[in-house]
Formats: sequence, structure tokens, C-alpha cells
Amino acid sequence: MFGVGSQQLKTDSFLTGAGDQKPAGRIAVRVYGLAAMLILLASMSLLLVGYVASRSADRQALENETLIFDNALYDRQLLIARDQLSVARWDRSVENIAHDFDQDFVRDEFIDSLWYDYNLHRAYLIGPDDRVLARSLEHQVDFTPETLKPGDPLKILADRTRAKFERNRIDLGDGYGQKRITTRQVADVSEFAFSRIDGQAVLLSAMAIVPDDGTVTLGEEPPVILISAKHIDDAFVKEFNAPLSLEDIAFLDGEAPEGRTARRALTGLQGEKIGHFVWTHDTPGQEIWGLVVPIAVALAALLSVAALVVSRQIGRLSASLEQSELRNRHFAQYDPLTGLANRMLFSDLLSHAIDRLPERPFALAACDLDKFKAVNDTYGHSAGDTVLCEVAKRLQVAVGDAGTVGRIGGDEFVILFDGRSDRESLKALADDILESVCRPIKLDACNNASVGISLGIAFAPQLGSLETEIFAAADEALYEAKDAGRNRAVFSARDLVSSKKQRERKSADTFHAA
Ligand code: GH3
Ligand code: MG
Repeated sequence: MFGVGSQQLKTDSFLTGAGDQKPAGRIAVRVYGLAAMLILLASMSLLLVGYVASRSADRQALENETLIFDNALYDRQLLIARDQLSVARWDRSVENIAHDFDQDFVRDEFIDSLWYDYNLHRAYLIGPDDRVLARSLEHQVDFTPETLKPGDPLKILADRTRAKFERNRIDLGDGYGQKRITTRQVADVSEFAFSRIDGQAVLLSAMAIVPDDGTVTLGEEPPVILISAKHIDDAFVKEFNAPLSLEDIAFLDGEAPEGRTARRALTGLQGEKIGHFVWTHDTPGQEIWGLVVPIAVALAALLSVAALVVSRQIGRLSASLEQSELRNRHFAQYDPLTGLANRMLFSDLLSHAIDRLPERPFALAACDLDKFKAVNDTYGHSAGDTVLCEVAKRLQVAVGDAGTVGRIGGDEFVILFDGRSDRESLKALADDILESVCRPIKLDACNNASVGISLGIAFAPQLGSLETEIFAAADEALYEAKDAGRNRAVFSARDLVSSKKQRERKSADTFHAA
């Protein structure tokens, strides 16, 4: 019942514009495309998040390590100052250096202690007039007098230290001393700087030589300043890094290399470059990256599977929607009993044929079965249906490529002979139709039904170029065929120009088929 013959398929194509890509296919392709885009977007976003997170983790690690480094370096400075304090805040130092300079004391007790006890490589004792009273390298002491020149880092540092002493100076009655501080407050009375001495990078620490318990005091003049220097060498770096464990740490005299190395520049008192500490900083970002990539891959795989499942589901739904749409369209255009074009589709075909007039003339046949009701009455409605289906098939066979058959009512059929206008060939076709429909139709093992058919045939454009006009002419001819005794075809003899008059006079040109 749902079978669509080649003839109907032709009309389907004409009406629906077949040849386009199937809507279901298009929807599935779009869904796949959209899913692929979303997967790509999600994966890219994840990778971007991973990239940003790893970069920021690396940056944070570098910042933390640099902060720890700075604190450790400052602690180192304080440690040197605390070591210095043990000889610089000492009454004996005041007596033997500030009051009455004793070279033996300086060499054997003062410098000796700084080198052997505290491993401070160099020491300078600077008098109030910037005169170097003594200088030492390890345990060697040189007492050659020398006045520091302006701009000399030792002078700058000594000046700063004197200024600091002034801020901390206290009056002890018979002279001056320095306010008492705990070792933790050593930064209050000391000054630090980085410098180069004889090409060697050093950490300088300076403080005034002051009394400790007040049995001796200082006079009005500025105090003697002790400047100690610790060499920044491999031993310094090793000792300094022991609690830090920074990777591959080194002190470089020149510029630090580029790359993922952390660096901390040391500058002197006048902004000159002393050197760089460099080390390989931690890169936790790599761990994040190592975590994010597999997650991104797994997510993309998971999304792909989900998208595939959803897309297939949508594709299936679309296909079934398309099927149901096709079915609905079919039912809207075809007679469900016989599968022939129904009134609506036939009307479309007819108006299409009318559009091509007058270049392409055509003929329309209105057909009605003869004595069909008797079949229903005798054998039942379903037998009537069998007859209608068989007649539909026979009509299609008889008409073949010459036209399109439609069913527009109970036992009413129509035939559009598109491009056919010669009477002779239509007469031959009508004879074939009459002969074919007349043949007995087998209902069951014992019964056959016999019906006839009457046809009214009208030509266009001769009988009009409106659907109603052409149908009216064909119907008129059909009535004439019925009136003339049925089972025959009648050509409408109406002339469009004098159609009114013709309607009044008997105009049918009748012939009997048999
Ligand atoms: P006539 O020779 O004058 O054409 O008379 P007829 O017996 O063929 O009857 P008529 O054309 O006036 O009426 C057609 C009948 O077809 C009326 C109706 O009961 C019957 N019919 C209409 N549709 C269907 C259908 O789908 N199936 C069946 N079995 N019968 C139908
Ligand atoms: Mg009939």
C-alpha cells in the first residue's frame, strides 16, 4: 500500500527537489562538527589552564626561592656582625685601639680572633680622620698608615657606620658609649655592603669599637671603625647553601647565563656590579604539566565517545524524523489505498502542465468506474477495495509513460497525458484502458468481479488554460460517456471561444470502444 511506483517517484522528485543532501545526514554532520569543535575547545582550554598554572607555579617557586635566598643572605650578614661584636664591643679594644693604639694587641688578640675564631678574611681599623690604622689579610697585619680617598667603598661604609654610632651614642658621664643592644639587634649598630677587594668579591660588615661595661669611655671624637670582609668564594657558597639546598648554586663574577636559572645580582655601594648568585630553581610546573596532559587526553577521549554516542543518537532520531516526514508527505500526496497521486498532488501536476501551455499541450481524462457499487453490494467493501487497487494497477500499465494516473474520489480516476495532443494516439490509449479494465478481476478462489470504465477526455489549451475549465470539460465529456451507455471514452468537443454556446448544444463527439 505504501509502494511508490517509478512514475510516482518521478513526481516526488519534481515536487521535493530530490538530489539535495539528506537532512538527517546534514544534521549528523553538523552535530559531529559541533562536537569536534567543543572537544577541541575543551582540550585547548585545559591545556591553556595547564600552561598558565605551570607557568605561575614555576614563577611562584622562583619567587619563594629568591625570598628564602635573600633572607639567608641577610642572616649571613647578621652572623658576621655578631662575630664582630665580640671584639668591637669590648673595653680592651677601646683601650688598646681608640685610646692607646697597641699593635701587639691588634695583631695578637684582635685580628687573631677575627681570623682564627670567626674566619673573617680581612679586617680594617679606620680612625676618625679616615686613616687606616691597620689592615689584615687572614692573620697577616699591615700597619702602614694610609688615608682613605673619597669614593673608596671603605670610606663610604665607615662614614655610614659613624653616622649610625652618632644615633646610638649615649652619655656615660665621664665620656660616651653606645646604647646597649642584644645580639639580635646587631643590625642597629652595624652596616653592610658588597664590594670587591683586590678582585675578590667580599661581604663587608662594619661597626664602631665601643666599650662594653662602661669602665672605659669614648671621647668627643668619632670612634674607630672596624670593617671586616668575608670572601664570597666556594667555601662561602657551600656554607651558605647548607641549610638552603639550592640546586647547582654558584657565585659568578660576570653576567649570569640566560635560561631557567635563578639569579640574584650583588651590587656595590656605588651601584657597581659585584657578581651574581645563580642556581637552578625548582619547576613544579613540569609536574602540573605532566598531570594536565594525560587528563586533557583522557577528557578529549571521553568527550569524543560521549559526542559519538550523542551524535549517533541524534543522527538516528533525525533519520526517523525524516522517515516520518517522508511518510507524512507521501500520505499528503498519495492515495493510501491505491498508491496513486491524490487530488492534491494531481492538482499540482496539472498546474505545472498548465504553466507550460501553450508550447506543450496536454490532455486530461476524467474516469469513473461503471457499476462499481454493485461490487461493494455483492462481495463487500473489501472486495470493492481489491477492485479499486487492481483497476489502479491496470490503468498504470495501460497508460505507461504516456501519462500520470491519479485517484481523486471513490471510483473516480484521472489521467494527465502530458505533452500528448494528438487524438489518434489518445484514442488508442483509451481503447487499451477500456479493454484492460473490462477484464474480470479475481476476488478469491471462486469469485471474479467485472467492472467497466467511462472516460471523458479534454485537450488543453484548446479547452482552456485554467484547471477548473479543463476539469469541467473532461467531466462534461465523462457524463456524456455515462449517458451514452458507459464503458466508452468521449472526447470533449468544447471550443473555448464558443464554450458557452457549445454548452447549450450537444457537442460531444462520441464513440464506442468495443
Ligand atoms: P456509475 O456506474 O454510475 O458510476 O455507478 P457506480 O455503481 O459506479 O457508483 P458511483 O460511481 O455513483 O459511486 C461510487 C461508489 O464507490 C460509492 C461508494 O460506496 C463506493 N466507494 C467510494 N469509495 C470507496 C472505497 O474506498 N472503497 C470501496 N470499496 N468503495 C468505495
Ligand atoms: Mg462509478
